[in-house]
Amino acid sequence: MTLRSIRSAGAFAGTAVLVLTMSACDLGTEPEGKGEKIAIGIKFDQPGLGLRTADGYSGFDVDVATYVARKLGYSEDEIVWKEAPSAQREKLIVSGDVRFVVATYSINERRLKEVDFAGPYFLTHQDLLVRGDEVAINEVEDLNSRKLCSVTGSTSARNVKEKLAPKADLQQLGGYSECLAALESKKVDALTTDAAILAGYASQQQHWGKFKLVGLSLSDENYGIGVKKGDTALKAEINKALGELVSDGTWRKLVRKHFNLSSYESEPPPRIQD
Ligand code: GLU
Repeated sequence: MTLRSIRSAGAFAGTAVLVLTMSACDLGTEPEGKGEKIAIGIKFDQPGLGLRTADGYSGFDVDVATYVARKLGYSEDEIVWKEAPSAQREKLIVSGDVRFVVATYSINERRLKEVDFAGPYFLTHQDLLVRGDEVAINEVEDLNSRKLCSVTGSTSARNVKEKLAPKADLQQLGGYSECLAALESKKVDALTTDAAILAGYASQQQHWGKFKLVGLSLSDENYGIGVKKGDTALKAEINKALGELVSDGTWRKLVRKHFNLSSYESEPPPRIQD
């Protein structure tokens, strides 16, 4: 079983237990701190990856960002989390509003014109999320006559428009949680983005049985950490930290913690580029 083949939320039922058995100390020894803050861009509305709740921030990207920040010498309380919606990521980096972005941020040629990427540190694939009782959407071609939601500034929306289903009635919203609400209220028939993101929504207890992943692998999405173009020193430091994340076993622990799929290990950590 792979991540994209997960069609029901039940597979994630053990997540809460695992979360309770892992604590912040699993990310390594807390450094003294630099006595200064570091702003990091993450998603605020993507369960399992980057989520803000009343209890704070959680998700795979949040933990990866915290680990990297620690390796750069920042203690956890020196991190200032900033929301980095899909369409704002390059702008946040270029303006210097954030030092780096860890926000389900796929490395691609278009973005490399504006920013640089450390990594990749995670591989996932574009898929579709539909309502639990949907029977008519099984292939990407089935979208051509349907209402589809994705997010402005994402590779998912661009892939649909340019190649996957150009005739789909594509609605682009500001965030995936808005698409999810539209899917639930039947304003759209499907939501498309990375399987890791879709699986996070489907696994939330309040969504059990309401949504299912179709189980397609429509693209390769290699997540990188976005940094200012030309900041080769920071990119190299982050790449070193990501190498340690994998080699000290934390990467695997975090994948289990946030996706709870032992089978996901069949998809190994992608090789970090120089
Ligand atoms: N990974 C894709 C991207 O970077 C889709 C997810 C997102 O919008 O964050 O565009």
